[in-house]
Amino acid sequence: MNSRLATATVSKILPFSCVDGPGNRLVIFLQGCNFNCKNCHNPHTIGLCDHCGDCIEHCPANALSMVAGAKDKNQIRWNADACTHCDTCLAVCPNQSSPKTQQYTVDDMLAVIRKNSLFITGITVTGGEATLQLNFIIELFQAIKSNSDLQHLSCMIDSNGSLSETGWKKVIPYIDGAMIDLKAWQEDTHRWITGRDNHRVFQSIHLLSHHNKLHELRLLVIPTITDFESEIAALADYLVMLPDENTRIRLNAFQHHGVTGEALSWPTCSKEEITAFAEQLTQLSVRNVVLPAIILES
Ligand code: SF4
Ligand code: SF4
Repeated sequence: MNSRLATATVSKILPFSCVDGPGNRLVIFLQGCNFNCKNCHNPHTIGLCDHCGDCIEHCPANALSMVAGAKDKNQIRWNADACTHCDTCLAVCPNQSSPKTQQYTVDDMLAVIRKNSLFITGITVTGGEATLQLNFIIELFQAIKSNSDLQHLSCMIDSNGSLSETGWKKVIPYIDGAMIDLKAWQEDTHRWITGRDNHRVFQSIHLLSHHNKLHELRLLVIPTITDFESEIAALADYLVMLPDENTRIRLNAFQHHGVTGEALSWPTCSKEEITAFAEQLTQLSVRNVVLPAIILES
């Protein structure tokens, strides 16, 4: 009997990515987030669809309709064949959601992974906030680790760090690493940007580093908005003292692509600014500082 029961609400699956962890990775974007970042690059992954139907009349391809779902409750149906991917439905949704999300069982997802398994080195689950659907991740990674044709794939989580210690302890045995975003140093700045404080984020960073599972700590630099530059001395002291000295400190330079609302008026971070910040961190003895590949090519 199949004991895998978890399902996940999936926003998107990217069969190949070389920027979401080491090597070439299949990336699973789960729907729903517990932060509400002003600078979110995928704001339509934050909310869960309540099947209100508001997006139907805006679809120029008639790819959306309302059908009877479980217990005769109406639910939105997306016709993938008719969809032209104009993303009008994402723009009009009042819930920061999408009618294009789909439910996957662990076995459904294993079938997708198997189709691509010869061409990838690992799986990254991201979001939204991946860890809000923790049971699905645990069952999926357990299955990958216990199937001989999939065992070669490394299993990683890309997270905002809000998961509790109890939650991390459940999933740590099945992950090869995690990538955590620290959105701001000071609690007030973090709360202003994300809507939540950063206590859990610091706890998660320390716990994962202690277990040698913090593959990468990410800092997004937004000039005059994030406080990493003004707090660089305290930040550097913290990074130097992380239990695992091999953790990569990835710097990302804020750009406007995908953002909406007030974040569109925030200054972008130039190649010169991010490079100077990296040099300052290195001078303060921070190891493994990694610059964003895309901006360095520009
Ligand atoms: S995607 Fe948004 S607008 Fe469309 S039915 Fe769901 S909640 Fe309503
Ligand atoms: S992206 Fe949304 S609005 Fe555009 S065609 Fe597809 S379902 Fe319709």
